[in-house]
Amino acid sequence: MVQAKYIFVTGGVTSSLGKGIISASLGKLLSSRGFKVTIQKFDPYINVDPGTLNPYEHGECYVTEDGAETDLDLGHYERFLDITTSQANNVTTGRIYFNVIEKERKGDFLGKTVQVIPHITNEIKRNFFALGETGKYDFVITEIGGSVGDIESLPFIEAMRQAKWDLGPGNFLNIHLTLIPYLKAAGELKTKPTQHSVKMLLESGVQPDILVCRTEYPIGNDIRKKLALFCNVPYNCVIQALDAETIYDVPLLMRKEKLDERVLERLNTPYEGEPDITQWKDFLGKLKNPTKDVQVGLIGKYVELHDAYKSIVEAFVHAGAVNECKVNVKWISSEEIEEENVSTKLKDLDGILIAPGFGERGIEGKILTAKYARENKLPFFGICLGMQCAVIEFGRHVLGYTNAASTELNAKTSDPIIDLMEDQKKITNMGGTMRLGAYPCQLKKGSKVREVYGKDLISERHRHRYEFNDKYLTDFEKHGMIASGTNPDSNLVEIIEIKNHPWFIGTQFHPELKSTVLSPHPLFVHFIKAAIDYKKNKDEQ
Ligand code: GLN
Repeated sequence: MVQAKYIFVTGGVTSSLGKGIISASLGKLLSSRGFKVTIQKFDPYINVDPGTLNPYEHGECYVTEDGAETDLDLGHYERFLDITTSQANNVTTGRIYFNVIEKERKGDFLGKTVQVIPHITNEIKRNFFALGETGKYDFVITEIGGSVGDIESLPFIEAMRQAKWDLGPGNFLNIHLTLIPYLKAAGELKTKPTQHSVKMLLESGVQPDILVCRTEYPIGNDIRKKLALFCNVPYNCVIQALDAETIYDVPLLMRKEKLDERVLERLNTPYEGEPDITQWKDFLGKLKNPTKDVQVGLIGKYVELHDAYKSIVEAFVHAGAVNECKVNVKWISSEEIEEENVSTKLKDLDGILIAPGFGERGIEGKILTAKYARENKLPFFGICLGMQCAVIEFGRHVLGYTNAASTELNAKTSDPIIDLMEDQKKITNMGGTMRLGAYPCQLKKGSKVREVYGKDLISERHRHRYEFNDKYLTDFEKHGMIASGTNPDSNLVEIIEIKNHPWFIGTQFHPELKSTVLSPHPLFVHFIKAAIDYKKNKDEQ
């Protein structure tokens, strides 16, 4: 069995330095050298998972194949490395305590006082090591959420200190990501906050091996020397992480600084030559040299926080690059869309995506948007709640069910066109109880989606409680909205499309979760193609 080597990534000075992107970029470089790599994230909050968090608190909730509701950084790991992650890749303080308390109730610690050290730290370490113990990986990169010095992350830092000794020499490495602020008045980059943050890490018994320094301006030799001296790291292990134009530049920036080589040397791992990142560079070439552009509207209710729709935005980036097209996203709050302003708000768009979501706020705006896209033959892509709104709209305005609604929003409606799934009816707990994770979906011969995917059977990830009520299906199909994708086991409607429309597709699942740099999602790629065609036609008229 391969002994996995562990790279721990901690953060200092401030949050939001981009530990996720640095971890994913390092992972990319190592896997491009042929190593098997996975990345896991430990989050210091008490929620058992982020599934119950409002997106405003923590951004998008990313769903894995096995149905875990996880931190959005796992999306970066999958998009950069083309790997699939699972519940094991994201663990929170809440889950650690939950497990320990469960064990305590079972009597596993009979007679003992249960304490942070060793019981909580042991449980953290058990989770640190779980992926490495599968024997599948050469390297496990472990991102510790939060910043060093936070009360909440102390047990994780302590467990990391202990892990160094459990793993033995040459198998443990700490990368500390820090900020080098620029003081405009002094005209200088400052190292003091980094020195303090390294001291704080040292107080916890951890000496960083490599410093990755986020900075707005290049750090010269003097600063590198100073950091090396005061933070006790070799000169060549002070790595500069300049602000980048796009997150997809970061693997190349890290390569330029030879982060991968430093990591391999410190972990006594022989290497030769360069990582093979040609495909990545091709993608960047296309991304940065678009030959055309389109404007797509992203209609949602959390539009002030773009992180709430992270995977959708990234899927647009991937799909844009393939099409050599710059995708300009216009963020539109569904609450602001009304009968009187719908055409003014949407008229400049070449395509519309209605985002996933929960609850009543902004629903009528989404329904009006779907109507506008249908009537004006504007490319339309509805995801999860977005698909449900398109179905309600069609039910109301084409089929004449004036009360058509989802029972999520109107429990007593006489036309529950979107209704709670049977096995959801008796569920009372909110956490982890939706229809979650990957399910197969059979595509209908001759449909648009069959053409887009180029195969009959697909698998996509879900996160919802409500579904298309198939009592109404015949009526819908008779009038031109067809179920072009269904679950082969349960027959649930997973995809709808409108036949006499250039591109009108709604999916009950979340395709954005599976789009990666090297495998852009076909639905996004074709949606952008449709937007390009729409724009071309508009310009020709
Ligand atoms: N609120 C809807 C449901 O639970 C849609 C969920 C979503 O968009 N992810 O079915």
